[in-house]
Amino acid sequence: MIKIKISKTLESKIRKGYPWVFKYQLQSDGVEKSSGGLAVLYDHKNRFLAVGLWDPDSDLCFRVLNLFDPVDIDTHFFLKRFQQALLPRKGLKEQGTTGYRVLNGENDGFPGLILDRYDKTWVLKVYAKSWFPYLERMLEVIKTEENVEQVVLRLARNIEDSSSHFFDGKVLYGPDPIVPVQFYENGLKFHVDVVSGQKTGFFLDQRENRLQIKKISSGLSVLNVFSYTGGFSIYAISGGCRSLVEIDSNSFALKSSLQNLELNFPEEQNFEYLQIEGDAFQKLHELKLQNSQFDLVILDPPAFARKKKHRPQALEAYSRLAELGVHLVAPGGRLFSASCSAHISAKEFYKAVNYGVRSANKGLKEITKTRHASDHPVKFAELEYLKSIMGWVEA
Ligand code: SAH
Repeated sequence: MIKIKISKTLESKIRKGYPWVFKYQLQSDGVEKSSGGLAVLYDHKNRFLAVGLWDPDSDLCFRVLNLFDPVDIDTHFFLKRFQQALLPRKGLKEQGTTGYRVLNGENDGFPGLILDRYDKTWVLKVYAKSWFPYLERMLEVIKTEENVEQVVLRLARNIEDSSSHFFDGKVLYGPDPIVPVQFYENGLKFHVDVVSGQKTGFFLDQRENRLQIKKISSGLSVLNVFSYTGGFSIYAISGGCRSLVEIDSNSFALKSSLQNLELNFPEEQNFEYLQIEGDAFQKLHELKLQNSQFDLVILDPPAFARKKKHRPQALEAYSRLAELGVHLVAPGGRLFSASCSAHISAKEFYKAVNYGVRSANKGLKEITKTRHASDHPVKFAELEYLKSIMGWVEA
């Protein structure tokens, strides 16, 4: 097994639970040339500190699996953690939710691995090649649960490799091809494309925020910007909104949103519905020129800062978006704005939103600030990516 060493400073961080070592932090010679698998991290006194996954090709080269105790990384090891992770998610089914996150990566002791379930279809999203030798074991673990009809593999773009027999969208278990997968979220129905949809197909992290939207939507005109497959839209309609406008640049996403609408409300609804395809910034500007107004504007864009170096532009984009969005809020209306950029802190994001609101000569009276849904527990600040704010817009 590969042996690695690090600085005393990083060592003390890892002792407190920090789960990663980056290549530039390594103090061992020659290890970069080794092949992937497991590695052992030694402390400055040459004692065992942690065992973890080793990815010599990646900047993030070591992910802690187990701290202090040199356990065997076998099926039993994974099964125990999987069962621990299931416990806090048990109540979701009674709330009418059959699509949720089962394993939230590092936060549930599975660094670089996400497991989402959409009813009987389970989706494993892998962010590190070092997981490949353990996927068989993970399958055994997942199959100990009832209602596992299919397990699908999704790969992060940076680990896709044409020479590997693991590819994005591969069915690891169960029937292939996949028929449309349906699941429930808070009693509402959704179809999800687990093979080519973003992430694992649906943004499960917004579940509790969507419920907030449902609770306040009665009688409102709603603008859902970056609507994707209609998550927020379906909740707004089910909450009784008066009208709904969706904006997204992706025609497939808009089509899926319409299908989700028909799935939940097969009878014609008594409300106005419009989809706008195109760039959100441009379309928001056009709506402003048309003097359009909405009681509720929802802004849930993709991550604007995928890398640290993108932070300044990303903050500017969040401000600009808030400015454009808030112009469209009718007197007495509300703005909901979210960010899923891990490189932007909650504080920075709220500041950027407030800056944008002020640039439009308006104010934002905070109603709530929220984070991820409860099935997305967060143990490390670096993994706390989602933040959102809802507020009354003051003229
Ligand atoms: N709010 C959604 C998730 C949004 S994902 C939900 O609750 O499920 C981000 C969406 O933004 C994607 O659908 C993507 O197609 C869209 N998008 C990305 N860039 C865009 C742009 N410049 N203008 C409009 N839509 C964009």
